[in-house]
Amino acid sequence: MRDLGGHILLSATDLMRFMGCAHATSLDLQKLQGKGPDPRVDSEDAALLQKQGNAHEAAHLEKLKSAGGRVAEIDSGDLTANADRTREILAEGPDVVFQGAFLSGKWGGWSDFLERVDLPSELGNFSYEVTDTKLKRKPHPSHVLQLVLYSDLLAEVQGVQPEFAHIELGNGDRASLRLSDYSAFARQARARLEAFVADPEETRPTPCSACGLCRWEDHCKTVWQAEDSLFNVANISRTQVKKLEATGVQTLEDLSILDHPVRGMTEPSLQRLVTQARLQHARKTGDPDFVLRQPEPGKGFYLLPEPQPGDLFYDIEGDPHYEGGLEYLHGVWAKNTGFVKFWAHDHEAEKQAVIDLIDFFRKRLTQFPEARIYHYAPYEITALRRLTVKYGIGEAFLDRLLREQRFVDLFAVVRGGLIGSEPNYSIKSMEAFYDLVRDGEVKTAGGSVVAYEKWLETGDQKILDEIEVYNRIDCVSTEDLRDWLVGIRPEGPWPVFGQDAADKEIEEDQDANALRTMLAASNLPAERQNMLFDLGMFHGREVKPAQWAVFDSVSKEEGDLIEDLDALAGLVAVGSAVPVKKSMARTYSFPQQETKLRGGKKATVPVLDAPPTTVNIDALDRTGREIVVKIGNARAHLLSDRLSLHPDWPLNTGVIENALREVIVDQCGPRRYRALDDLLSRRAPRLTDGARDDILNNGDPVGGTIAAVSNMDETVWHCQKDSP
Ligand code: SF4
Repeated sequence: MRDLGGHILLSATDLMRFMGCAHATSLDLQKLQGKGPDPRVDSEDAALLQKQGNAHEAAHLEKLKSAGGRVAEIDSGDLTANADRTREILAEGPDVVFQGAFLSGKWGGWSDFLERVDLPSELGNFSYEVTDTKLKRKPHPSHVLQLVLYSDLLAEVQGVQPEFAHIELGNGDRASLRLSDYSAFARQARARLEAFVADPEETRPTPCSACGLCRWEDHCKTVWQAEDSLFNVANISRTQVKKLEATGVQTLEDLSILDHPVRGMTEPSLQRLVTQARLQHARKTGDPDFVLRQPEPGKGFYLLPEPQPGDLFYDIEGDPHYEGGLEYLHGVWAKNTGFVKFWAHDHEAEKQAVIDLIDFFRKRLTQFPEARIYHYAPYEITALRRLTVKYGIGEAFLDRLLREQRFVDLFAVVRGGLIGSEPNYSIKSMEAFYDLVRDGEVKTAGGSVVAYEKWLETGDQKILDEIEVYNRIDCVSTEDLRDWLVGIRPEGPWPVFGQDAADKEIEEDQDANALRTMLAASNLPAERQNMLFDLGMFHGREVKPAQWAVFDSVSKEEGDLIEDLDALAGLVAVGSAVPVKKSMARTYSFPQQETKLRGGKKATVPVLDAPPTTVNIDALDRTGREIVVKIGNARAHLLSDRLSLHPDWPLNTGVIENALREVIVDQCGPRRYRALDDLLSRRAPRLTDGARDDILNNGDPVGGTIAAVSNMDETVWHCQKDSP
């Protein structure tokens, strides 16, 4: 946003910021008018992202140059002059224009790349499409806003609308978007921003995912503190704040003394928030404090096992800015062995670190069969799942550990087990309860990433040493937290965790090994062997994330589930279960929420000491907020008075898997499926009237195609006209 000769010029960045948080736009406007607060200087994280973004863009530029095409570069400076120069250069028709500038009416800015395509335009028998470089691994909705804006501005210059725009992603993939699918949304967003700038509405700071990298974050935090805002209440959602404010509860202190129900909020959710606010309010002048929550099977202290001598405490440091992402340090702490570290400074080393870590876990669990691996928050498990699949290493072993509930997420124990007086539930905040004092230069996960990036540049060993100290303290802190939780847990028997799942691991490993051995014994080329192995393992790998999602959902808090589209939470029975044929059905009401669950579909409900089980959704009335859930007679007790529904288990793909295995066996042997063999060999179609280069045999497209199809001899013909 800038003042261009008396009128406000808007850019793609302004649009993306506005769609993330209108308050940021308000503050930008005030700043432009010389009013309001000052923004902070870029945080180290923001500066790092900027630097990585520039490097990614520069790498793509180099790639285009080395491809041999003509690349024209605009030296970014004065926007008006740059836009004029871009028009001239586009008319010359280079293959690529780097930093093409646009200026039209209220909008302007510099695109990353304009790439020449064959579509005719007012420029000649060619035109251009926009390509942006982004660090993310997947396109984000905000990218669409930018691509449509530059494509519309480009269309004004070349007189024709580009059909596609592209994103060069951080992992090296290229995403292409058909602009007509998104342009209405993006143009409407632009119109909204223009209207807002012309006549700004009153806004207020509301926490969102954009805050962490926002230049107004310090200012907004000051406002929330000064107002004693409800947003300061730990784990409160925006929807909950809205409902509370609608009943006149405006501050954290108001909430701490609230003694009446709030429309649209369940009693347990409200009571949790009131207690949270009361503790935080008292903490302003007092010591750290906590209260234990009502025990709920499968949550909180039910997830905390009895300590064992071989227990491990585990923490990962990961760098999302490294190309393709890099988990650069796995740290494991145990009282009797001290700190063990697995460093990785590139992807080859990352793979080796996973091999070594899994080997370490395996040996440790052999030595201490009752030991558990403690960590804080889900990142470690998410990263391990990703790494084992990425490198095809230890998948069966990790599955076994998960089945045996070897990993203990202390964050889940804390969230479900107690309410604490601290402003959030990060492990650093929890340290107030067990007096851990942190020293060392690196003090946050973000700081660790910044430090690691500095090490990549400088190679200064001192930096790695500091990161290691930070990681070790996190591991030790996890143990201290576990010990503190053990000290405050309610009286009662220790929970019994998953049974030995070694057999299942052996079965999975044997299956993978048998497949490898069969393929290795065949005379198929190595590339085909690898492809068939991946095909054979595909469904087993694909199904896991969906299965994990069910377990993850079951471990979530009701408040989180209400915000989760894949679940339906806070169900309260409105009567008893009634028999329906050989099943029992029960009707529930539920609080306002969005959900992807539908009547006639299935969901799952938690089962104590067993995996969640499937239920049928007989009817779902969104307006009346009522649902009928049905289950077999033998499991009718699971239709409890209060309930949350979780996503259903993934589809059973056994038939497809078996069919694929049959193909693989055939490929390793007689190759009777000739059409499939042609497909896998990328062979030209075999025709009964003889092989030929021109399959249509000089015939017209329709007649030639019919003739060729009639003569196909157990083969495959890829038949495609223009774009798919
Ligand atoms: S810090 Fe958050 S609430 Fe404040 S302006 Fe930025 S994005 Fe909006």
